[in-house]
Amino acid sequence: MVETHRKIEIALKGIGVSPGIVVREVQLLALKTLTVIRHSITPDEVPSEILRFEEALIATHDQIKLIQKQVGEVLGDKHASIFDAHLLVVDDRSFIEDIIRTVKKDLINVEPVLQMVADRYADMLSKVADSYLSERAADIRDVTKRIMANLSGETLNQMTQIANPCIVVARDLAPSDTASIDKALVFGFVTDLGSSTSHTAIMAKALEVPAVVGLHDITAKVSSGDIILIDGGRGLVYINPTDERLKEYKKRGQEQELILKELDTLRDKPPETQDGYLVPITANIELLEELKAVGEHGAKGIGLYRTEFLFLGAESLPDEDAQTIAYEQAAQSQNPSPVVIRTLDLGADKLPVNFEVPNEMNPFLGDRAIRLCLSHPELFKTQLRAILRASVLGNVRMMYPMISCVQEVISANELVQECMEELRGKGIPFDENIQIGTMIEVPSAALIADLIAPHVSFFSLGTNDLIQYTMAVDRGNENVAHLYKPTHLAIIRLIDHVVKISHKYGLWTCVCGQMASDPLLVPLLIGLGVDELSVSPSQAPMVKDVIRKLYYSEAVELAQKSLASPSAEYVKQLCHDMIKGIAPEILELSE
Ligand code: PEP
Ligand code: MG
Repeated sequence: MVETHRKIEIALKGIGVSPGIVVREVQLLALKTLTVIRHSITPDEVPSEILRFEEALIATHDQIKLIQKQVGEVLGDKHASIFDAHLLVVDDRSFIEDIIRTVKKDLINVEPVLQMVADRYADMLSKVADSYLSERAADIRDVTKRIMANLSGETLNQMTQIANPCIVVARDLAPSDTASIDKALVFGFVTDLGSSTSHTAIMAKALEVPAVVGLHDITAKVSSGDIILIDGGRGLVYINPTDERLKEYKKRGQEQELILKELDTLRDKPPETQDGYLVPITANIELLEELKAVGEHGAKGIGLYRTEFLFLGAESLPDEDAQTIAYEQAAQSQNPSPVVIRTLDLGADKLPVNFEVPNEMNPFLGDRAIRLCLSHPELFKTQLRAILRASVLGNVRMMYPMISCVQEVISANELVQECMEELRGKGIPFDENIQIGTMIEVPSAALIADLIAPHVSFFSLGTNDLIQYTMAVDRGNENVAHLYKPTHLAIIRLIDHVVKISHKYGLWTCVCGQMASDPLLVPLLIGLGVDELSVSPSQAPMVKDVIRKLYYSEAVELAQKSLASPSAEYVKQLCHDMIKGIAPEILELSE
């Protein structure tokens, strides 16, 4: 336990996204605006200062070249050509000479000169009416940041700022930050931005790191070195907790531990209701490191492998062989239970480090997921071949994200057929009967489920996006988090509709959105006829506990009542009451 001290306690309420109680020192992650320090140099120091600058330029040039190569291999030449403009900046002799001349004349270190000259060039360009030239201003700023980082030996990855055990406090964390986190050092996350289904939240859960998001301005209230207590289950944060608070939480932590220990005993028991209705619990994974946790928490098989995280955490983009190895590892670890590999859901907030795509006004409605894959067949087919190669193990299934119309499924299926032909031509074996399904996470897909059904083997409801797109509520925006309602009638009706259609066409439906990981909502989903729940591994014990205490007939009754309810709040209350009646220990963990 960390030593207590005299500062005044500040209590804050945010959105608890990953349970657990933890007390540690704060590590405040500053946004990466590199501080530019100005100091004089002597005439003797000029040559070494210029050498330092030239070395940083070479390092920057090499980094850009490497990124360009990687992006070109995976995304094609169009995207790689974005970096030509960056190379033009770093190789621009008049820009470089301007800086060197000023360093010699003013006898100051290179950083402030670089900043000043870059700002001058960027300002000039941004004022030009020509859009091509004004966009070059952004290139100059990007490249300057990179040269600055090379001059200081710093990296642009936020997580590398962490050297000691801590709780990370940041404005926001990109999935690429969380994907490269060191669990031996980071004991919790707290962020200003974010909401319950933002990808930072999902990663925190995956890493089993307690986390609270959506605190608006906690970064302005803490300093590195402060002590902070976070209660991820209840979404509470205490800066400089009092001795009484620490004592209270010590007791609470012990009680929760006892409940979790009890739930651990369910690991090998079947996820079966009191009246014998079986609801398989599979797991959502982002990283291969999570595979061990799947079985440990009593889930069987993978209902959603978010393969884009293979790209997000990586220094370089994985090729076909590297992807095949990863998919085989996932399949082998669960054999004979099925592993559903979702094709790349890249774009919007999920962009790899060093991966640049043109700016979009509304990236969540833009060129992402299946759209990005269909517009980059070389990227998509590389992944499809890798999944097919792994399918020879017999338990691999494939799934497309963000389908919004039938044609996307047909086009994707055609590319799968092409890949199968290519593999056959090379004598590479694969599962000829691989099951291919689709996510239902866009309202249009839910409403035309009957037209999609003939082209697939299963549906998987991505409720995180389904809620976002149905209710027009950004799933990552804490300012509208109160409008994000899983129990809204529109959502319940869409789930009901999709499940009924799937059964009519002989398909099965899983829920892999966070709704399935919320034990309070499990009876409702089961009552609506959902066939499988794919959950964050750490949530599996709670979900199984609820299933095993439930009567299927009660769940159906709850679903019928919910479908006829007047409001989201009413349905939420019905769900809460049911858990209070059958599994009150679940509420102990979150209330
Ligand atoms: C979803 O949208 O519910 C889903 C499971 O996909 P993701 O969270 O990766 O967008
Ligand atoms: Mg989604």
